[in-house]
Amino acid sequence: MAPTKVSEGDLLVERIRSIQRSNQANKRCADCLERGPTYVCLDFQTFVCQLCSGIHREFHHKIKSISLSEWNPAEVALIEAGGNEKAAVKWLDRWNKEQFPEPDSSDVEAVREFIRLKYAEKKWFRPHGRSGAEAPAEAAAGYAAAKAPAAPSAPFTPAPAASNTVAPQIAPMLDLLSGGASPPAKSRVPAADVWAPHDIITIIWPPQLIFSICKAPTSMPGMVSLVKVLGEPQAALDVPKTVPPLPSGLAAKDFTVPSLKEMGYKVGKSGGPEPHCGFPGGETAGLARLEAKLKDKNFILNFQKPKTKSTAFDPPSTTVLSPYLKFGCVSVRQFYHGVQKVCAGKKHTPPPESLVGQLLFREMSYMMGASIPNFDRQVGNPSCKQIPWAKDAKLLEAWETGRTGYPFIDAVMRQLVQVGWIHHLARHAVSCFLTRGDLWLSWEQGRDVFDRHLLDSDWAVNNMNWLSLSGAAPWSPPFFRVYSPTPSNDSSLNVQDPEGKYVRQFVPELAKMPSKYIYAPWTAPLEVQKAAGCIIGKDYPKPVVDHKTASAANIAKFKEALSSGKSSPAVAKPSAADKARLPLPSESCLADHPQTQKRPKKVDIPEAKRLHLGGEDLFKIVDPKVKAAITREFNTGGHAVKVVIPSGGKKRKAAEENPDDIGDEGEKDKVVVDLEEKEKGSDDEGDVTSGGLLKIKSHKPSAKGKAKAKAKVKAEPKEKDAPTPTPKAAGKAKAKAEAKPKAKGKAKS
Ligand SMILES: Cc1cc2nc3c(=O)[nH]c(=O)nc-3n(C[C@H](O)[C@H](O)[C@H](O)COP(=O)(O)OP(=O)(O)OC[C@H]3O[C@@H](n4cnc5c(N)ncnc54)[C@H](O)[C@@H]3O)c2cc1C
Ligand SMILES: [Zn+2]
Repeated sequence: MAPTKVSEGDLLVERIRSIQRSNQANKRCADCLERGPTYVCLDFQTFVCQLCSGIHREFHHKIKSISLSEWNPAEVALIEAGGNEKAAVKWLDRWNKEQFPEPDSSDVEAVREFIRLKYAEKKWFRPHGRSGAEAPAEAAAGYAAAKAPAAPSAPFTPAPAASNTVAPQIAPMLDLLSGGASPPAKSRVPAADVWAPHDIITIIWPPQLIFSICKAPTSMPGMVSLVKVLGEPQAALDVPKTVPPLPSGLAAKDFTVPSLKEMGYKVGKSGGPEPHCGFPGGETAGLARLEAKLKDKNFILNFQKPKTKSTAFDPPSTTVLSPYLKFGCVSVRQFYHGVQKVCAGKKHTPPPESLVGQLLFREMSYMMGASIPNFDRQVGNPSCKQIPWAKDAKLLEAWETGRTGYPFIDAVMRQLVQVGWIHHLARHAVSCFLTRGDLWLSWEQGRDVFDRHLLDSDWAVNNMNWLSLSGAAPWSPPFFRVYSPTPSNDSSLNVQDPEGKYVRQFVPELAKMPSKYIYAPWTAPLEVQKAAGCIIGKDYPKPVVDHKTASAANIAKFKEALSSGKSSPAVAKPSAADKARLPLPSESCLADHPQTQKRPKKVDIPEAKRLHLGGEDLFKIVDPKVKAAITREFNTGGHAVKVVIPSGGKKRKAAEENPDDIGDEGEKDKVVVDLEEKEKGSDDEGDVTSGGLLKIKSHKPSAKGKAKAKAKVKAEPKEKDAPTPTPKAAGKAKAKAEAKPKAKGKAKS
């Protein structure tokens, strides 16, 4: 008999049902006493009854019917990572059943009040930071953005009134925080909800979802492949209609923000800080900026990051939305969906150089930051080569204050301090110069300086990029490829400024220097220097190092560090702070981290956990069920995985032909994958390369294999072990949607 054809949607529903069956707690509504819940609240990954689903909708929580809604694999993986038991640990942590018994579904008002107290008021919520049985993944991701413990650099503290030297550096940040002179920003996220899973606004996909599938990708092809599996992310939340009241006893005045004047800053006519960085702060300004960028369809469709000009400052050549993303003035999901909407159905540039590509770099930084121990330092960081950087306070100061004697480097550093934002390739230039290129100082010191001055300073993104540019990370460009600090017109730094307008703007000492000498003024004859009113060594410094000599010496030192065998990072145990934020089996991540192992030509992967997802990268699939779904996913996408099983040619052939067999729970054989090292990526948008990752080649499945794989997917009897409803619920269910025949594709919630 021919097997019944089962759609992808049916399989997903069946998976949800099996998740529900797998845990007693899922067989009862998460919020009342009702048995046999038939809905899922995606915000909290809980199974809820019909009544509670309606009440959740009143609170704008996302609800879907198990059998009537359309599901995607990402949502199902999310439910798999959650469930009623986990939700109770978190949302009912301080709940006292005696004092506040769970409501009966016959009392609608009581149920509504219970849900309000539980989720909106967070009356019984587990306080953030308290160590629970499982680390809260969303807190981890939020952490990566907002709350780096053991902060690598000085926390933001307003300068005292008298300090004129510090104030201008901080002014741009204050400007952004205060919203400048713009009207008060509407709050997009209720303040009380900061750590709830449904309002992680700092990243595009929920981290618990990503980490239920794989470890952090470290290359763009890997990220792009992952995105295919994740599917489209949720839309940004709507502006809430109501904001929960302040807890009783707290008066509004307790939260009044001191004025700029009160904090000792010069205030301009507009009421904003003086001087002004040019990027007015707040949500209103951020959304206006986003809207203006999205309106420029040409800009969005043709955006190619490596081709944007690093010296463009009025206006800049990229979006300058980073400060608004950093402060939460603009939701990254809103940015992402806005760009996708413009690109839909039109020819557009692809990642990595597109704007979506930029946001994926950001997403990757967050994933890395959340899962790589000691991400923000060299010591104990498995993704950082141990390089014996020098210490030199004078050189560091020259770099930070823009007095290295290299006009382009100095202009960038002075723009950083004055404005609080610099172009990405300008960041490349100065970070390479500080580390492997010229000064041989540690990336951690450079990171700290950036952290002090950047409006968009972001723990995860800043560290990921500094690791990259220093040459020390697996995703770094090759350490021996360094940028010239006197960039020519065809430099990949895209200076494109033969007249040196940018340098003249930020290094006014050189305003009158002839263009011929603007990037290397020490080469100008003394007469020319005199005529320009700038004597090198007196009015403007001589170069602090000779680039040619310094870079050659540094490359040699880097090479020496690598060949000495001392550069391999120690296999680090995550610190307590790491553990508090690591959502993933970090130790297992570490165990097969490419940097922590000496890799033989063939590598044993005992449970065939590495799969090729249609790009060039590999992921460690954590959960066998998720893995099975993904296997199916990329089969339907026409990809297959080639594995080499050493024992028994028959089995090997079968596995090659029917990739669905790979890693199935029954599969116990050792699987060996071909090792193919990718030496390096290119640097132009080379923040992240796929340096040295294992790679499994893909091949198209044979016709026979395809047929076999299809036949394998058999229909399983539905509702077999569905939760037993109470007589009352059963009666209801009959009358309600759940009992209706499947109407896939029609019903959406
Ligand atoms: C050494 C170094 C340090 C950096 N530190 C930070 C930092 O602290 N905070 C920060 O937001 N960016 C940082 N970046 C990345 C990048 O330079 C900025 O995100 C970008 O220049 C911001 O300008 P934009 O908004 O116009 O970017 P666009 O080109 O318009 O890109 C849109 C958004 O994509 C994201 N993005 C772009 N490039 C990257 C990237 N390479 N990595 C991760 N996300 C990216 C940003 O959120 C950005 O706002 C750093 C880069 C380097 C080389
Ligand atoms: Zn209920």
